[in-house]
Formats: sequence, structure tokens, C-alpha cells
Amino acid sequence: MIGIQEYKVFSAHNYEQIPQLIKQLTKDQLWAIKVVGTVLPFKVNNYVIDQLINWDNVPDDPIFILTFPQKEMLKEEHYNLVDQALKNNIPQLELKKIVNLVRATLNPNPAGQQDHNVPVMDGQRLHGVQHKYDQTLLFFPSHGQTCHAYCTFCFRWPQFIGDKNQKFAQNETDDVIKYLKRHPKITDVLLTGGDPMTMNASRLRAYIEPFLSPELEHVQTIRIGTKALSFWPYKFVNDKDSEELLDLFRQITEAGKHLAFMAHLNHPAELKTEVVRQAIKNIKDTGAEIRTQSPIMHHINDKACVWRDLWNTQVQLGLIPYYMFLARDTGAQHYFSVPLVKAWHIFKEAYRQVSGIARTVRGPSMSAHPGKVEIVGPATINGEEVLTLNFIQGRNSDWIKRPFFAEYDEKATWLDDLKPAFGKKRFFFETELIDDVKLN
Ligand code: SF4
Repeated sequence: MIGIQEYKVFSAHNYEQIPQLIKQLTKDQLWAIKVVGTVLPFKVNNYVIDQLINWDNVPDDPIFILTFPQKEMLKEEHYNLVDQALKNNIPQLELKKIVNLVRATLNPNPAGQQDHNVPVMDGQRLHGVQHKYDQTLLFFPSHGQTCHAYCTFCFRWPQFIGDKNQKFAQNETDDVIKYLKRHPKITDVLLTGGDPMTMNASRLRAYIEPFLSPELEHVQTIRIGTKALSFWPYKFVNDKDSEELLDLFRQITEAGKHLAFMAHLNHPAELKTEVVRQAIKNIKDTGAEIRTQSPIMHHINDKACVWRDLWNTQVQLGLIPYYMFLARDTGAQHYFSVPLVKAWHIFKEAYRQVSGIARTVRGPSMSAHPGKVEIVGPATINGEEVLTLNFIQGRNSDWIKRPFFAEYDEKATWLDDLKPAFGKKRFFFETELIDDVKLN
């Protein structure tokens, strides 16, 4: 029986009310949640606690690490700073200063999002929108800038700590519609956040319906980036507006648009419950397709068997594996990152164990400043060991599918760590990228 759920959330203020946590963790471990949760966003709900986390496996359980702050997510000197500030009970304003100092060291704005991806229309920057790749516009509806629970690895963490400078959000769709009318090359609008699936059905309808207008015929695909399937599947089963939400999905597909539900799924444990399976069925029955993506992260899913099971389970449930990403260079990247070469080995090992149907997945890929860079793999060329790379998406679409080469480096975790191979000073795209920075 699925049963109706009353939604309860826990954060750094009330996590000590979670009975399983108190039973399973020591006092020091509980305190560490407080310290790290003061710097990085922390929110978890009763579905994740009661049905996804295997408490017998805590503190090593992957879903526990995915949702609860861990001591090592802060570097030791930062941890000690906040730890002492809390223990000394210093005034709130001073605490805030310390916390902001620590946050500022965590690269809160990776991949040039604040500076380079925001489009300009009639001389005005269009806040709440990003247009990095020709065909796809990202739209951050202002009412969808939170999540049902927060992932500890999230690269959008600054949005959840109340820092207005780091937020992308659009109050209404008028400007977006105007922009889309002027850019007929855009075929895809991606609603993202936070999680747009935290909005109720009528709010979501207000955002989406304008995209169905005949004037926007060139917009063929509406994508919704969400983790609600995993963190609150009741949304699509028996919340009070579930029917209305599924009707909206049906309305989109019946209008001839492709509705691409981009589900963030990090571990097979997220797909085991009866309610998530019912949610998948209900969504697919509306004509929507569900594609899946996740970063590969140390402590959570850095094993080939996890990815093999994840992709196999997804295919069995009718989902389409889409991306394996690399942990972005922000927040607790030092805790989560998997070196590029290791990620490639894990991808390859999992990929060779699944049938062709699951090989719709791409990666491992870095969403870096110049574009989505795929690790094609190591090679030896003219006696030199190199790492072959490739753009899946690029700031300049001409870069896509042009293989390029970096010196082989087993420790590198991000594009910036790599050096061009064959004694070259720059990668082929860098001159144009530097010119682009100067122009901005
Ligand atoms: S659900 Fe998505 S946006 Fe929200 S915290 Fe997780 S990764 Fe970040």
C-alpha cells in the first residue's frame, strides 16, 4: 500500500527530532551535522528518511550521504572555524560573517553562470534565464527555487542559502516569451531550479501554458529538471493536486510538444519503492518521456556495479539513461570528486555490462565554462600518453565533436586541471574563449 503522506521537513534547526538519527549517530557525529549544515544547505523530508535511507548502513549509506551534511564536506580549517564560533555562541552577525567567508572559498558561481550565460535583450540582462547553447534556453521560475530535499553535492547550493546575488529566478514569463520569439533557433526550454516540481500544479501551469502558444511553434521540447521523483514521488501519485499536474503533462503532449522529464537519480536505492514505481507509470501514461542523469560522486556512486544497476533498473522501468556527469568545481567538490580517469574507467566498466538499450547514456561529462566536455578516454599517440576529450555541447557549436587531447593525468578532477598535450600552449577553443571573456 502506498498511502497518503504528510510532508515533514527537517533542517539544521530540528534534525535532532529524527529518531533514527539519534539512535544511529554519536554525539560528535550529530554535532558535525550542525556545523556543516550552518554553511551548506541542509533539508531532508520524511519520505527520504523513512523509505530511502537504510539506517542499518548509516553513516555509510549513500542516500544518507546524499542528504545529510558530513564533517569532511568542509575543509578542516573551515570546519574548526565554524565549530568554534558555534561552541562560543558568538553573536549572529559575527557568525554570519564567518559563514560567508567560508562560503566564498567554495566557488559559489561555477562555469561562469553569473557572467556569461545570462542573455541580453534590449540592453537589459535577462535575469532568471541562461542561454549558453544555441537550441536550449534555461528558465528558472522564481517559485521553483527550492527542492523537496537538498543534495549535499548540489552545485546550485548558493541558491538555497538566501544569497540574492547568486540566485537565478524569473518572476514571470513575459520577457522569456519575448526572447523566445526573437530566437527561432531555440527548440528546447528547460525549466530548472531548484526543482520546478516543488510548485503546485496551478502555479506550474501559469509558467508552462505560454510556451504552448502557436507563436512559439519552434519550441518543440519542454524539459523539466527535477528530483521530485526520487525525493517526493507522491507529487505524481496522491498529493492533492496530482491529478491536475498529470492533466497539465497531458495537455503539453497533446499540444504536440515533447515533454522531457529530466529525472535526477543518483543511486538504484531511489528506484526501489512502490510509490516511485507508480509515479513513473503515471508520468509515462501522460505521453512524457523520462530521461535520467546524475553526477558520479565519491561516497555515493563511484562503483561500476552501482551504475550498471542504476541503468538496468531505469531501462526496466521505461526510463532513458541520459548523462553521467562529473562533480562540479564548487561546494564540497573535494569530498565528492572522482578523478576524470577513474570516472572514465567506472563508466566503461558499467557500460560494457549493460545491453545496447541502456547505452543511450553519455559521459562522463563535465559541464564546464566552455561547454559539456566528455572524457572519451586515454590513448597513446606517437608514443605520448594522452587523454582524449570531446565537446558534447559548446559555447560555440562548431567545437562540438572535435576531439582534442590533454596530457594524461590520473589526478585531474576538472578541465582546469588538464594541460594540452603535444607541448601546445592552449586547447583549440581557448583563444576564442578568452576573447569572449574580454568582450563580456
Ligand atoms: S534536487 Fe537538484 S537542485 Fe535540488 S539540491 Fe538536489 S541537485 Fe540541487
